[in-house]
Formats: sequence, C-alpha cells, structure tokens
Amino acid sequence: MTIDLHNHTPLCNHAEGSPEEYVEAAVAKGIEIFGFADHAPMEFDPKYRMGFEEMKKYETSVRELAEHYRGTIEIRLGYEVDYLPGQMDERVLDADVDYLIGSVHFIDEWGFDNPEFIGRYEGADLETIWREYFDAVEAMARSGLFDIAGHLDLIKVFNYRPEGDIRPLAEGALDALARNDMTLELNAAGWRKPVAEAYPSLDLLRMAHDRQIPITFASDAHSPAQVGYRMEALHALAHEAGYDEAADFRNRERRLLKF
Ligand SMILES: [Zn+2]
Ligand SMILES: [Zn+2]
Repeated sequence: MTIDLHNHTPLCNHAEGSPEEYVEAAVAKGIEIFGFADHAPMEFDPKYRMGFEEMKKYETSVRELAEHYRGTIEIRLGYEVDYLPGQMDERVLDADVDYLIGSVHFIDEWGFDNPEFIGRYEGADLETIWREYFDAVEAMARSGLFDIAGHLDLIKVFNYRPEGDIRPLAEGALDALARNDMTLELNAAGWRKPVAEAYPSLDLLRMAHDRQIPITFASDAHSPAQVGYRMEALHALAHEAGYDEAADFRNRERRLLKF
C-alpha cells in the first residue's frame, strides 16, 4: 500500500496547484491513500496558513474530492497543526477530520525553519536550540492532542547541528511518542532543503523502531509536482530501520498496512 498523508493546498498561502491537481498527481504516481494536511488556522503568524473562516471550504472540498475519486484513490482529510501553547484552537483540535499532525515550527515564537529568520542560528548555542526543540516535540506528544508527529527532526533543516551524537537529545521526545501511542511520519521534504536528508534521520528512525512507534509517509508537497516525492527512497529508509507496515487514519482511528 502506498500512503502519503501530508500534503498542502494553496489555502496556506505558500503552496501552488489546485487540490484536484494534487490528487491527479497522486493517482499518476500510484499512491493509493492520499491525505491533505494543510496548515491549520491560528491567530499567531497568520501569513502562512488558512483563516478560520476557510476551514469549512477546505474540509468540504477535500470530502467532495474523496467522493468524486472513490474507487480510484482513497483521500483523507487532516490538518498540520503548530504545537504552540496558548495558540491552539478548539475549532481545529475538535475538527471532524481523519487525523491531526502535530508539528513544531517555533521555538519561543522563533520560526526556526523559515529562511527569513536563519540569522538566529549564527553564534547561538546549537545544543541548547536542539534541546529546546526536542523539549517542544516531547510536550507536543504529551499533550495527547495529535495522531502523527510531523517531521521529527526539522531542527536540522539548515544543517546547523551540535557536535557529537544527537540521539540523546531526541530520547525524551521519542519516549513520549511511544507512551502516547503516536505515529511518526517519514517526511521527504528534508530532501528538498539544505540538509538534504529525510525527516527523521535513520538513527532516530531506528530509535523509533526500538520503541515500536508506528510510522506513516509524507511527501509534504507544496505543489502537485512534489506529490509522492522520493516515496521509494522513503520506503527503503523505513525498511532499513525494520519497518514493513505504515499507518492510515480514518476518523482518527489508525490501521496498519503493509507497504
Ligand atoms: Zn511542517
Ligand atoms: Zn507540511
């Protein structure tokens, strides 16, 4: 089964292509379960996300596409939600969707994966930044609000890494994912970024496997051309870590399928 649960739409103001074009691209690439997970609305940093008033339109259009493509491809509806205490909204957390992806894009309101703010890394203590990042991922997991952990080691995006073994920095986050029965996505977007690696690294994926954390797959497409991006390489990475099943979600219920 070929699954890709993390794809955006132009509603988030930084993606291109119509939802139909994403689905057509997915069909052409042989994806069997395709999910939209556009950036959920939030009062903070509204520039890169849909507005609350657009949720209905987004949800209805994805459900209509699912109906239209029934028998050809299965389409799921989700949101990628920023884990940012004080900013998460019940209208999103209680939305009638198949799954919620919890993602950390901010450390103390610093959008650390945004090239606009890359200057913050210069001269910073990278180990402290990485520790703060994984603390936020751990808190996201412990919140119990989400089904899937988005791009687990996004903090490596621009290749600013602390010296030495980074595995101990991620241990608490991975333990919390396991304890809260969350699913981890293998996300291909890192291959399109300066780091040129998938999220997470093979080392962290092996740690997830040791903890029996289920996985799923994500191209994190922001254009139809990125749908299914390096899906075979993602599968190979998962196999290398010992996985042969991936998660699909319907109405926030998980099922595992061979890939
Ligand atoms: Zn993200
Ligand atoms: Zn995304």
